[in-house]
Amino acid sequence: MLSNDPVWSLGLERRAPAGSPKGTAADLLVIGAGFMGLSAALHAARRSMAVQVIDSRPLGEAASGLNGGQVIPGLKYDPEWLLAHFGDRRGTPVVEFAAHTADAVFDLIGAEKLDVPHSRTGWIQACHTEKALAAAQSRHRQWSSYGANVGLLDAAGIRDKIGTTNYLGGFIDRRAGTINPLAFVLELARVAAESGAAIAENTRCTALRRRNQGWEATLAGGGTLKARQVILATNAYSDGLIPGLARTLVPLHSFQIATAPLPDDVLATILPEGQAVSDSRRILIYYRRAAGNRLILGGRGPLRLPRGPEDWAHLERALVRLFPALAGTGIEKRWFGRVAVTADHLPHVHEPETGLVTIAGCQGRGVGLMTAAGPRLVDYLLSGDPDALPLPAIPIRPIPFHAFQRIGVGAMIAWYRLLDAMEQ
Ligand SMILES: Cc1cc2nc3c(=O)[nH]c(=O)nc-3n(C[C@H](O)[C@H](O)[C@H](O)COP(=O)(O)OP(=O)(O)OC[C@H]3O[C@@H](n4cnc5c(N)ncnc54)[C@H](O)[C@@H]3O)c2cc1C
Repeated sequence: MLSNDPVWSLGLERRAPAGSPKGTAADLLVIGAGFMGLSAALHAARRSMAVQVIDSRPLGEAASGLNGGQVIPGLKYDPEWLLAHFGDRRGTPVVEFAAHTADAVFDLIGAEKLDVPHSRTGWIQACHTEKALAAAQSRHRQWSSYGANVGLLDAAGIRDKIGTTNYLGGFIDRRAGTINPLAFVLELARVAAESGAAIAENTRCTALRRRNQGWEATLAGGGTLKARQVILATNAYSDGLIPGLARTLVPLHSFQIATAPLPDDVLATILPEGQAVSDSRRILIYYRRAAGNRLILGGRGPLRLPRGPEDWAHLERALVRLFPALAGTGIEKRWFGRVAVTADHLPHVHEPETGLVTIAGCQGRGVGLMTAAGPRLVDYLLSGDPDALPLPAIPIRPIPFHAFQRIGVGAMIAWYRLLDAMEQ
């Protein structure tokens, strides 16, 4: 059995509150203790709700504790597309929400004095083709018109910022930054618990049903929990709790590697200002520095569970392609997690029944997005005002032939890899 131990756990003390469910009826049951569930729980507890959070795993062992820690504002789409898609009335607040998702993370860290290693030095989208550069210019024009702190990099500029000659230029978003995501999960859990939320790890919900005016959750191993309202915060790890939800998502695996500590002279030439980077390829790779002079790099991995270090070999090759000086560098950590992608590449908000809401599908942008979304779902449950939701709620529409989708995704990834290789 491979351990799935991210670089983030190095030197981190597990101070998270672990407990059994309280057993009394709650105002709000939150199922899933990632960024979404915990930011919702904290907000709800501060609004005087009696909150119970449960998670089937130990805290931090799903996407929120395993990700790349890149805090990137915005959605997959730029403002003009969002306005055209949602219309002016709903589109304008969606753009406003998307613009501030990174703020949600850094503001929380600051306001709650969370012990989370972080920096706000920006995110670079590194372009490898003229077409990607044109898209970056459009993105820059659109976000500039909202006064966002964004910029463009030419070939020399991006070489200096990243330390590689692989790119033609890029887009830099200075609203973005990096965090230790596992520390953020644990600290969110701590302040949520200190604010009154009960948090139970290793507690799986196996069924959810309407009971009187509220909800009853059945727990694995026996027992039930009652709550007036429920937030389902299971995202890429969704199972059958809400019929059809899991089939609206294509769960992909993202894999990451962390180098052993790099010598100062080598590190001085790589990301000297500490930005996070994603490239513009169809099967993108993303990378950043991490504590202890390490560099981490991630990208798509096999759809099955990994069998051994060879499943990360493509990332080691990508690392050396970018930074030849790293040839022969030891890889200290390899880990992976699940990312939820929707068919239209937008996050989906659903309210299948009154008093039960969920949001899922963040296409790898969930650090900011899900942290910002949690409180908004709570505000909606408290007010009943649909405008409180970060995006309009939509019906659950399972992807047709979902069972075959995974085979299709595998073929699509192989095809995209080939196209990316041809463009190098
Ligand atoms: C390897 C990797 C790298 C990534 N890199 C980035 C990045 O750099 N930047 C970025 O913005 N995003 C990134 N993402 C995406 C981001 O991590 C996620 O979008 C985000 O963490 C989702 O948070 P969440 O709270 O919605 O869900 P999760 O953190 O996935 O939490 C869902 C929880 O629900 C629990 N659960 C599921 N079913 C049940 C049940 N029946 N009963 C009880 N509990 C249940 C699970 O155990 C899990 O803990 C990455 C993801 C991965 C996997």
